[in-house]
Amino acid sequence: PHIADLIAAGEVVERPASVAKELLENALDAGASAISVEVQHGGLTYLRITDNGCGIAPGQLPTAFLRHATSKLRRAEDLAAIGTLGFRGEALAAIAAVSRVDIFSRERGADRGASLHLEGGVPGEVTETGCPEGTTICVRDLFFNTPARMKFMKKDSAEGTAVTGVVTHLALSHPEVSVKLIRDGVEVLHTPGDGQLRSAVYAALGRDFALGLLPVSGCGGDISVEGFVTKPLNGGGTRARQLFFVNGRFVRSQLLTAALEEAYRNRLLKGKFPGCVLHITLPKSTVDVNVHPAKTVVKFQNERAVFDAVHYTVKDLLTAGET
Ligand code: ADP
Ligand code: MG
Repeated sequence: PHIADLIAAGEVVERPASVAKELLENALDAGASAISVEVQHGGLTYLRITDNGCGIAPGQLPTAFLRHATSKLRRAEDLAAIGTLGFRGEALAAIAAVSRVDIFSRERGADRGASLHLEGGVPGEVTETGCPEGTTICVRDLFFNTPARMKFMKKDSAEGTAVTGVVTHLALSHPEVSVKLIRDGVEVLHTPGDGQLRSAVYAALGRDFALGLLPVSGCGGDISVEGFVTKPLNGGGTRARQLFFVNGRFVRSQLLTAALEEAYRNRLLKGKFPGCVLHITLPKSTVDVNVHPAKTVVKFQNERAVFDAVHYTVKDLLTAGET
């Protein structure tokens, strides 16, 4: 592959979970209402994503894998962000550069689809194929041609867990999309896509966790806080079950963690942590969600206001439950 593709690949494609994240976002962008993910060996040997989105025309299949190929119209705010966030139109090229890819796609309403195989980024011929509407991308033997990168991979189980995390976050940020994950032949997650966060939580995080939750809804100024938190005495266990979404994107944030835990102060057994699935929505201009493929970092313009919105919304709920 072209050296520039390999450099880009190193930035975009860190591990199977980053491949999954990019392909999932493409499926969402394509307007899919159902997405299915299948991985083997943590996604290192096999990672396949199928969506029922708009599909790609046969003639556009090779184009989609060119660097800087993007069919997505940019709004002014996106254009402004490109400089710092980068990676637009690079994901497919980067993934293909370091793996063996098969893509099958049929546009909505078209009577047939087409497929294409790429080996280390080098495309074969586009072939007419019978396939359902939507797109399937199958990524095999990730990093087969970049052994140095391969050495950084953890055990299959750790890579598979990271993929599961990415799929779980997507399922919880888009309850209107049915999301399925099959890991080494076992279905580990399948959300109904009925638009209800509660159903997505139930399907993605399990019955026990879901049954120990309280619905929470509130706001502080133009910051809204919606979702679920654990009942005080249930107090989850680890912080792994503190899931925050800002304007629909999963983020890790010490500020949000602190705001949540402060609301539970003296309401949990020692050493226990509250769990949550919280969607925080605020004006786009007041938050910078870094969309670097490998990161989930968020920077709030007014940290105090965000802290208070989360803290008081949760605390009011818990206080109300005590009286
Ligand atoms: P970007 O998403 O930034 O446009 P990508 O490299 O991820 O760049 O994808 C390149 C192009 O391939 C997209 O702009 C889109 O036109 C097409 N594409 C990729 N995945 C899908 C999909 N699942 N369904 C329909 N089109 C897709
Ligand atoms: Mg993309």
